[in-house]
Amino acid sequence: MTGAPRRLAAPWVLPIEGPPIRDGAVLLDGGGRIAAVGAATALPTPPGVPAEFLPDAVILPGLINAHTHLELTGLDHQVLDADFPAWIRHIIALKAARTPADFLAAARQGLRDCWAAGVTTVADTGDSGAVIEALAEAGGSGIAYHEVFGPHPDQAEEAMAGAIRRLAELSRFTSARVRLGLSPHAPYSVSGPLYARVADHARKAGLPLAVHLAESEDESLLLEQGSGGFARAWEGRGIPLLPPPGRTPVAWLEEHGVLSARTLCIHLVRVGAADIEILRRGAVAVAHCPRSNVRHAKGSAPLAALLTAGLRVGVGTDSVASVAPLDLLAEARAARALGALGAEEALRLVTRDAARALGLEQEIGSLRPGNWGDLAVFRLPGRTGAGHLPEAVLSLGPDAVLLTCLAGREMYRRKRL
Ligand SMILES: [Zn+2]
Repeated sequence: MTGAPRRLAAPWVLPIEGPPIRDGAVLLDGGGRIAAVGAATALPTPPGVPAEFLPDAVILPGLINAHTHLELTGLDHQVLDADFPAWIRHIIALKAARTPADFLAAARQGLRDCWAAGVTTVADTGDSGAVIEALAEAGGSGIAYHEVFGPHPDQAEEAMAGAIRRLAELSRFTSARVRLGLSPHAPYSVSGPLYARVADHARKAGLPLAVHLAESEDESLLLEQGSGGFARAWEGRGIPLLPPPGRTPVAWLEEHGVLSARTLCIHLVRVGAADIEILRRGAVAVAHCPRSNVRHAKGSAPLAALLTAGLRVGVGTDSVASVAPLDLLAEARAARALGALGAEEALRLVTRDAARALGLEQEIGSLRPGNWGDLAVFRLPGRTGAGHLPEAVLSLGPDAVLLTCLAGREMYRRKRL
């Protein structure tokens, strides 16, 4: 699904790769790709191609959310447990009460919310299959990582067989813009043997992986000491604890062959220097979720150290059950404060760098000819100089989005007040 050719112009175009363009324009071809980007006076206006000028606006690449759970859309403000294991149990109970039709409706609404916020690509984890279906039917863009659970080692074979069956069913929704991946959920919900099986299958099938990793103190206590909230829950369910000596969550996943350049590690809050060296060796990518981490991990990821190690980092919102509403530029501002970054660096974390983290930098994340015609147009508060433009854009929120295009198709346009 691609749009018709169109030409959009605005007082500012911020291509991310390359400097801001004053009085710029973007020309999209009939195949959903960017044909040209530059000063409006230098760009052709082909006959028959609709041209539009957006006053007081800036044209950006569509934003990329490196971590969502869109099947949980609608659960905001319903999950208030302070304790992380209790919060996880609450989410499981709320999900169990949803039907497949509920999940599909939630996924569709979640995608609409993304487009209304200028987000055109999502890296989404879930186990209902609803998000990949919603992406496919709407002509969306994203990676849907199918979640696999099974903390008891005896469940590994059955869980893997079930995951392979589900992947076969869901593969009918894949396309050039909609990809399938696997997400062995987290070290407190997946056994070592299951991690090894999933990693092996992903390697053979060429599928990307996403893992929630080193998020909470209870997760670290479970693996390192066999104590804490998750350890008590495992004992209550007859799940054997790991034999000592313990491992950090990162070291444990490396042992099971999970960490590679195709792996997206979500959160990474409780990681020390030795863990970061393992992550660097594995050349993993990172989905950094600063506001979710403050809520659940009661702390922050060592963003500056992860960037210094050369890891590919994108920023994600996590689900509305963690932080609502989803506001990716607010996450970029939080990342900026945490990592002592410049405004341009912070904007790259939700555009080009997020594309690199997902292995999609040849297609999206910047406005350059040949990339997909994914655009987010934001209203600027007033006259803005080139030097202040990244700062001004970073200060915006979803309410400033005027227009969102995906492969040249209009997915959202703000109604006139
Ligand atoms: Zn998550």
